[in-house]
Amino acid sequence: MVARKFFVGGNFKMNGSLTEIETIIERINEAKFDGSTEIVVAPPALYLLKIQEELKAPSQVAAQNSFTEKSGAFTGEISPSQLKDANVHWVILGHSERRSLFGDTDKLVADKVKAAIENGLAVIACVGESLEQREAGETQEIVERQLETIAKEISESEWKDVVIAYEPVWAIGTGKVATKEQAQEVHDQIRKWLAKRVTQSVADQTRIIYGGSVNGKNCADLANAPDIDGFLVGGASLKPEFIDICNSHK
Ligand code: PGA
Repeated sequence: MVARKFFVGGNFKMNGSLTEIETIIERINEAKFDGSTEIVVAPPALYLLKIQEELKAPSQVAAQNSFTEKSGAFTGEISPSQLKDANVHWVILGHSERRSLFGDTDKLVADKVKAAIENGLAVIACVGESLEQREAGETQEIVERQLETIAKEISESEWKDVVIAYEPVWAIGTGKVATKEQAQEVHDQIRKWLAKRVTQSVADQTRIIYGGSVNGKNCADLANAPDIDGFLVGGASLKPEFIDICNSHK
């Protein structure tokens, strides 16, 4: 059995002033961690470099998005090679807000994942179903379709640079967290899919983290599930309870 290092990402989304974000970072810097969890925070792009300077290692920063191309006439975008140049190692791709509000299709997400990995970045790749899709019994089909598009673009060895975030859309920012059983079921299916579609060793080694209304109260229970290897945290990543979430793996 391969030990997968627990992984907690804080997705600040489009929240916080510089001062507010610096307060959050100070709290993380002062917190006690035992080293068993990899911690990554994603401030708005504008603040990445400043926060990267201030955040104490081994915690790292992540971008919330990146584009497919290296450079060119793409107003408003950031390229993976620019992130690499700035020593920003992580990027969140395929977040449901990008998919639903900004037109990131499965194919575009997969192309972004490919470009990020080719440029030496590591990716938190988000997948997940809507409430309608869950109620229609399509959860697995949707998640596998999203993953299949990515699998077509990357090689077996490149999966080591991917953390999969299972984020049911109905649980994001709603306060409606998936139960441990609901999340575990999908994580288990994703791992089985990886074994079948890629390899058993990729399935054993890839971290599958859960996102959607994770907070200081529900994290410990979820962290106990055998296939939940960490969390992607939105709202609660801005609050003191983020520290408890980072320490929820026991
Ligand atoms: P939430 O967001 O924790 O606020 O539900 C999670 C996410 O969007 O990654």
